Amino acid sequence: MRTKIMLDAGHGGKASGTVHQHPTIKVVEKEINLKIALYARRYIKQNFLDTITPYITRLHDDTVSLRRRCEMANLKDVQLFLSIHCNSRPQRGKHGVEIETFYQLEVPDKPFALRIQDTLVEGLRESVWVETPIIYRRVAEANFYVLRNTFMTSALVECGFLCDEEEALFLSKERTQRQYGKWIAKGIYSFLND
Ligand SMILES: [Zn+2]
Repeated sequence: MRTKIMLDAGHGGKASGTVHQHPTIKVVEKEINLKIALYARRYIKQNFLDTITPYITRLHDDTVSLRRRCEMANLKDVQLFLSIHCNSRPQRGKHGVEIETFYQLEVPDKPFALRIQDTLVEGLRESVWVETPIIYRRVAEANFYVLRNTFMTSALVECGFLCDEEEALFLSKERTQRQYGKWIAKGIYSFLND
């Protein structure tokens, strides 16, 4: 039997998520989230379609409420839910890529969050084209709406910090988004095939 996953591209439409205007680039979180989610979906379709059926909460720049995202996952009766976001924190004072993954329950959510996190970090480490060798990581419990209101194994990944210009530039690149999508897809597959 195939496992169904709902990929949730955070924000969209009227909800931009975090927005940063740097000297060289303006970054809008909703756009990056969507690209990464679409690349993850494409990678699953191309490589794991015999075992995973991917769904997505939005295909375009649409406004989708948090409640609707959860309903979509619950109604489709998916086994996994992964929300994809990018982060922001004033006066962060760190340089490098920082991946954070959140879960609500120790079981079964935490192992899923850890696997997504590990696959992303591993992918970043192995990529010679990633200029920054510094990768921060954090897996933590969080009581987010989409984790609380989805009835299946769920996690929320923050793919990096858009408040940092260097990191924002990195995340805005098509290549980065494609790789992130691939790593997320591989993380899902490896979690299911343990
Ligand atoms: Zn967000």
